[in-house]
Amino acid sequence: MKLLDEILQYNEEFVKEKKYEAYSTTKFPNKRMVIVTCMDTRLTELLPKALNIGNGDVKLVKNAGALVSHPFGSIMRSILVAVYQLQADEILVIGHHDCGMAGMKAGQMIDNMKERGITEETFEMLTYSGINVTKWLQGFQDVKESVSHSVEMIKKHPLLAEDIPVHGLVIHPNTGKLDLVIDGYKEKL
Ligand SMILES: [Zn+2]
Repeated sequence: MKLLDEILQYNEEFVKEKKYEAYSTTKFPNKRMVIVTCMDTRLTELLPKALNIGNGDVKLVKNAGALVSHPFGSIMRSILVAVYQLQADEILVIGHHDCGMAGMKAGQMIDNMKERGITEETFEMLTYSGINVTKWLQGFQDVKESVSHSVEMIKKHPLLAEDIPVHGLVIHPNTGKLDLVIDGYKEKL
């Protein structure tokens, strides 16, 4: 059975048996915060469990590397929506050890793209259009630095209210242990 069919079949049962009832909540986060973290598969269940977060507790924004790399990209927009429309009062950026974006070399990914049929001409055309693909795909070297950079990006955003604490943390993908990088309360003092 194909993956999508499997999902649809399971879903039919899920709804029929009213398994959703255990997850009933609202769109407003009970713990009034928004978390930006990585899409790493090891964190899917581990991160909420390690932080004592259940359904309905927080707004969760994910991407590769927990990176806020553009002040007017969709991650920053999601954070602002969480703050101004959905009652989030605090922001947490949570990177993790052994992240796929750590030390990621754009060159290798571009080679993979070429192997999958993306032509040299396409890359030339993008370069000609002013797009630096290599820079865009670049990972980071140090997860703490990366988290600090994302926290700064959020804190300095011209549309973020000053009284919102922005915390930076790193989680271990096996144990769920959190290391504090930036205490957003202290930064306010
Ligand atoms: Zn990651």
